[in-house]
Amino acid sequence: MERRDFFRRSALAALALRLGSGNGPAQAQAAPEPEGRPDPGSRPGGPVAIASSNGLVATGRAAQLLEAGADPLDAAIAGVNLLEEDPDDITVGYGGIPNEDGVVQLDASVMHGPTHRAGAVAALERIMYPSKVAKLVLERTDRILLVGEGALRFAKAHGFEEKELLTERARKIWMHWRETRSEQDDWLPPATLEPEVQEYLKNGGTVHCSVLDAKGDLGGCTSTSGLFFKIPGRVGDSPIIGAGLYIDNEIGSAGATGRGEAVIAACGAHSVVLEMGRGAAPEEACLRVLERIAAFTKRQGRHLDRAGRPDFNVVLYALDKRGRAGSAAIWSGRRFALFDGKENRLRDCAYLYKKSEGP
Ligand code: ASP
Repeated sequence: MERRDFFRRSALAALALRLGSGNGPAQAQAAPEPEGRPDPGSRPGGPVAIASSNGLVATGRAAQLLEAGADPLDAAIAGVNLLEEDPDDITVGYGGIPNEDGVVQLDASVMHGPTHRAGAVAALERIMYPSKVAKLVLERTDRILLVGEGALRFAKAHGFEEKELLTERARKIWMHWRETRSEQDDWLPPATLEPEVQEYLKNGGTVHCSVLDAKGDLGGCTSTSGLFFKIPGRVGDSPIIGAGLYIDNEIGSAGATGRGEAVIAACGAHSVVLEMGRGAAPEEACLRVLERIAAFTKRQGRHLDRAGRPDFNVVLYALDKRGRAGSAAIWSGRRFALFDGKENRLRDCAYLYKKSEGP
């Protein structure tokens, strides 16, 4: 049985049970009922770390640090830093794909479970580690989100060095996009394409990492260069607390990658945490929120395929207080990184729709 069939059947079974109880109108009873918060006492113990598929090095690093007793937020950030500084990851930090104007603008957020404090930066230019700046927003300001020029000035005031973040590879990809946008403009593509330029069409992304330490405390971080060739100043879900990242230290942590506008409009990460608080296991919590994103997209009437499903992907990641982790995507074929206390490896995400079912 496909995961979505299983999910729908379970939801229908639950609905039938509630209808059978004869309490109130069907509409109200169809809503998921609170089943109690995860019981922290029943977690197996030991650190757990979950990340997006590019984040296997992040979960590995975070796990090492957690095992050495690091704070959960510091561990998540240190994991994410490995992607931010990696020129080969074209979705995050240094080497990220630039905006329409060829300028790399970065978004990042961090959240610390035990103190419920958060920090974020958006449209930050020329600073390689936006997640570290986000952490300073959390620690050294009475604010949560700094953007653009103000975020850059804040980072420089704290001693961050400016750096050109546009690598040759990202510049060539951007140039290819620029030169193939229209046959009516002045830009012409070269006769032959370099392989690295061909490859970018398959990509898109962000790094998210959520961790749980041995004491049961959570930390999380999301960092991205955002949608490829975005309109300058566009900010996605990653630096928005409640969208690209959210933690309730009594329940769990969640994050998102994929089309940020859809995640923001559904308060993605916050919704996943709420579902876990109502008793859903992490994977199921992600699926419930993705179902909602699909329904909202239908209502918006844009970005739909011929069968009325979202024509984009969103991947949600969840980790609960017990150390249970799960991830789901709108479309099949996605993976996530998980250190489950023993092994650090990629696993398949659950999904709503199988790619081959597409029109
Ligand atoms: N969520 C990111 C954004 O919308 C992009 C991505 O994950 O592909 O900025």
